[in-house]
Amino acid sequence: MKIRRLPEGLVNRIAAGEVVERPASVVKELIENSIDSGARRIEIFIEEGGQALIRVSDDGSGINREELPLAIERHATSKIQNYTTLSEIDTLGFRGEALPSIGSIARMAIISRVKNSQQAWRINVNGGDVLPIEPAARAVGTDVLVRDIFFATPARLKFMKTPKTENGHITDVVVRLSMARPDIDFRLTLNGRQLFNLSSELSVDEGRLTRLSRVVGNDFRKNNLVLKSEREGIKLNGYIGFPSYNRSTSQHQYLFVNKRPVHDKMLNGALRGAYRDLIPSGRHPVCALFLEVPSHLLDVNVHPTKAEVRFSNIGTIRGLVVGSIRHSLSAAGHRTAMAGGVGVFGSLGKNNEGEKTNTVINKTSKISSKDLRTQSELINTDPIARSSDNPEVRTNDLDGFHEQEEKDYPLGAARAQVHATYIVSQTIDGIVIVDQHAAHERIVYERMKKELEEGTVKSQILLIPEVVEVGSEAANFIDNRVKELGALGLIIEPFGPGTVLVREVPAILGEGNIKGLVQDIVDNFSYLGARDTLIERLYEICASMACHSSVRAGRLLNNHEMNQLLRQMEATPNSGQCNHGRPTYIELALGDIEKLFGRR
Ligand code: ADP
Ligand code: MG
Repeated sequence: MKIRRLPEGLVNRIAAGEVVERPASVVKELIENSIDSGARRIEIFIEEGGQALIRVSDDGSGINREELPLAIERHATSKIQNYTTLSEIDTLGFRGEALPSIGSIARMAIISRVKNSQQAWRINVNGGDVLPIEPAARAVGTDVLVRDIFFATPARLKFMKTPKTENGHITDVVVRLSMARPDIDFRLTLNGRQLFNLSSELSVDEGRLTRLSRVVGNDFRKNNLVLKSEREGIKLNGYIGFPSYNRSTSQHQYLFVNKRPVHDKMLNGALRGAYRDLIPSGRHPVCALFLEVPSHLLDVNVHPTKAEVRFSNIGTIRGLVVGSIRHSLSAAGHRTAMAGGVGVFGSLGKNNEGEKTNTVINKTSKISSKDLRTQSELINTDPIARSSDNPEVRTNDLDGFHEQEEKDYPLGAARAQVHATYIVSQTIDGIVIVDQHAAHERIVYERMKKELEEGTVKSQILLIPEVVEVGSEAANFIDNRVKELGALGLIIEPFGPGTVLVREVPAILGEGNIKGLVQDIVDNFSYLGARDTLIERLYEICASMACHSSVRAGRLLNNHEMNQLLRQMEATPNSGQCNHGRPTYIELALGDIEKLFGRR
């Protein structure tokens, strides 16, 4: 068979197969062109999920009459002026493929007027056929209208989803780009209904947060931490949701690299790593991360729609993302707990997924570093583990805890224990209900992690070593990991067939059910894959030990013990969630209690 050059129209349709997957892809390309043209205002009109009409209008530079035919020609672009290098691209587009691709599969009109011209001009392309240029009227800027998408490629048309689904994708695209450029006004109208009108008047930070809150729900404002960090010339800014503010999909994770919305597996993995052990499995945090990477460390030309990028220093970026998220979450300590409030009673907090969200209804308690210092002095008085051989244990007299001191303690003063499971405490402006088991589990876990990191794990010798029967497979398992377990303060050795001998246990755990502990560890080890790093595996085991040793629901605590637990929570990183990502406490503001009783 002969080798032939394909006709231009067919080439464009083939390219369209990559660039235009669905109406939202057209919207993305057109908005990117508007952004690149220096627009301050971009308006998007959609009819029938984009199948009937997509119109994107801007007040950017416009395209002059002579260049209109070039704009729809393949590999013609105004964005690369230096032909030798691709390394310093600072526009969203550069491939010169979008307009010819779109024109080949739909009916497209471009109407544009440049500055200092009295006249606008229009060019039409119908399924690849270019019609003569005509005079038109409009202000400086450009409209691109796309009708009957995929009419020229019936196979693609069959893959169109319902207008509702396509509208969802379109909204997602607009939101992402609007977050990337809070300095531009965006207006989106779907079937005549204006969905948003985002103004550029706010500061960059406030603008991004406002745009983010518009899609994830306004309660995000009260459930996030601000991220700002820098390493080796790479900057990371953004908003990260509290672990308890989680969702069933990762849809609300917005990632940007140099003002370009991206989908990136490495960044997704870094996010997962950062929230590991803070969020229940199968749930996803909400966040917007904005990375600024020097352009010589970045390749943006790896994907036809430029949705992916390649970094030359993955390790640094991953470290920066994981490190800064974990640092800010743990520094925020108990503040990141879900404050259940009225939301718990179902009267608030439906988000657009129809899920119940965790609504903070009161002002978030502020803890100053002074408070933290005061409280951390109390941390050694662990009422529950009762490692009584620990010389550091002091007893602080907290029984005389007076109301006037509540302001110093965000989690308030314990008033009662109910059902031997929950501590009810009074704060300055409300009440807090603590799940004692969940809270203590996190306290023990964080302390174990700290000791592990600092290499200061203390173990406690058992007066009588305990023989535990675990079965031969498990015994083998333990035999191979004696050293790792030793690092955790668990001194264990093979005994007879299928049996092990436990000589020492981590001091932090106190004496508990040793057989149960060993069994948990074996179970844990066997499901952890070989790919997990040693330290990750050790953390997992810490978590399971902490759970095992923690004060169980059902245990009676006196007032002194309850207050000590509250003070430790205040001083413990991540104490808003237990190790399984469930909240350790909920908070009800007085105002909301009053609302519940109809007093307001
Ligand atoms: P690319 O964006 O990769 O250059 P496109 O096919 O998307 O390729 O656009 C081709 C050219 O048309 C652009 O380089 C730009 O010069 C011009 N253009 C497209 N849209 C606009 C717009 N909204 N305003 C001004 N110029 C535009
Ligand atoms: Mg483009």
